[in-house]
Amino acid sequence: PFEYAPAPESTSVVDLRPSYGLFVDGDFRDGAGESFKTVNPATEEVLAEVAEASEADVDAAVAAARRAFEGPWGRMPGRERAKYLFRIARIVQERSRELAVLETLDNGKPIRESRDVDVPTVAAHFFYYAGWADKLDHAGLGTDPRPLGVAGQVIPWNFPLMMLAWKVAPALACGNTVVLKPAETTPLTALLFAEICQQADLPPGVVNVVTGAGATGRAVVAHPGVDKVAFTGSTEVGKAIARAIAGTPKRSTLELGGKAANVVFDDAPLDQAVEGIVTGIFFNQGHVCCAGSRLLVQESVADEVLTRLKERMATLRLGDPLDKNTDVGAINSAEQLARIRALSEVGREEGAEGWSAACELPERGFWFPPTVFTGVTQAHRIAREEIFGPVLSVLTFRTPAEAVEKANNTPYGLSAGVWTEKGSRILWMAQQLRAGVVWANTFNKFDPTSPFGGYKESGHGREGGRHGLAAYLQEAQR
Ligand code: NAD
Repeated sequence: PFEYAPAPESTSVVDLRPSYGLFVDGDFRDGAGESFKTVNPATEEVLAEVAEASEADVDAAVAAARRAFEGPWGRMPGRERAKYLFRIARIVQERSRELAVLETLDNGKPIRESRDVDVPTVAAHFFYYAGWADKLDHAGLGTDPRPLGVAGQVIPWNFPLMMLAWKVAPALACGNTVVLKPAETTPLTALLFAEICQQADLPPGVVNVVTGAGATGRAVVAHPGVDKVAFTGSTEVGKAIARAIAGTPKRSTLELGGKAANVVFDDAPLDQAVEGIVTGIFFNQGHVCCAGSRLLVQESVADEVLTRLKERMATLRLGDPLDKNTDVGAINSAEQLARIRALSEVGREEGAEGWSAACELPERGFWFPPTVFTGVTQAHRIAREEIFGPVLSVLTFRTPAEAVEKANNTPYGLSAGVWTEKGSRILWMAQQLRAGVVWANTFNKFDPTSPFGGYKESGHGREGGRHGLAAYLQEAQR
């Protein structure tokens, strides 16, 4: 499903330093508090020591962002801001190898994905929102749209650079400034991005990066100098953030978990559907909020689809994420691996049948084989809870109405997929499914022009496209 191109030959394109500081007011500085280690999940080797931002550090970052907002950045015409965004986009392209290798080292995802999906998508977002910045000056979006101020942005570890781009690019295009808190297991590419901001001569304080764990995220979200909170992560933490900012005038967008249904009808082109099922759940080791983690397949083709799926799974190559032939990389952390193992065990205890493709798991690092569970009912926990790993639960249906009922029977509503040759059925399903994104005869496609976001416990607000601007302008309701 992805483009093949020559991979970086080695890690030598990355200049890893033993330790990293925070990026505040245009410069790197030591944190006032502790530090933590970030490891390569494929080898368990320590990559670097990273500063853990304290409340005082977050204060300094918010103050720098406020000064930048009230100074040059907040008053700059859109066409001037656009130049910086274009410059950032071009530097991301120029340094794409370095970004891709560092992302793969810190996250564990296959280099083919970081190189062909993550990094190009990051550049595309900056190009796209650069194009909006000057249109906002006199656009038909309202009279003189105004930015919100300082945006506190907290992101997860599954797409560290992509989540950064989805948040930073629209914020900057609209004239806001940013305090970004990357996830504690994947801080390195956000710090490389900070270097790119320096290289682009972005005015000091427009982008600040404060590394650290949940406590640093809490400090960013709770800071009285933050006007808008943008969060991507688990539903549990999203709810905690909603409680933390309740009663304040802060705006928020919350992009949370998912349990997407990938619905295969009997008239679907089956080979294409099987590829879509594989991409849906095994892309990025299933560490994808919109992963197609529930396969709903029409009973009449269920056996055929499962046979072909297992054949395809047997060809997936798991191993060294830096090898360009690798399809399935490492699980991001020991903690996440334990979570995936525990829920898979629950699936077996509850009577579902698990099948994994035979593959040799490397001795060191965190690994889990691509796995499919059959005999799953809606009562099973593996059909209801987000596993966030390479584990697919299969359910069957007879009629389109039953498919809709089962697909919507989840507290989440981030995405869904529909596989059928009937155009009318695609339109009908898209209307019936309670999900922010519905893919038809494809899956896990991300484009800067398309809004992305959830229904129900998958959160609120949209990122991407014209809708993504509303989240960073005064005129929007949220
Ligand atoms: P997480 O919620 O544990 O952490 C996300 C971020 O929040 C991290 O940077 C973490 O340090 C920080 N954090 C933790 N506690 C906090 C608190 N109390 N206040 C403020 N910040 C806090 O999630 P995760 O394990 O990093 O990521 C996996 C989850 O993210 C999955 O549930 C997945 O579905 C979701 N996700 C959603 C989307 C989306 O767009 N909807 C995209 C990617 C991931």
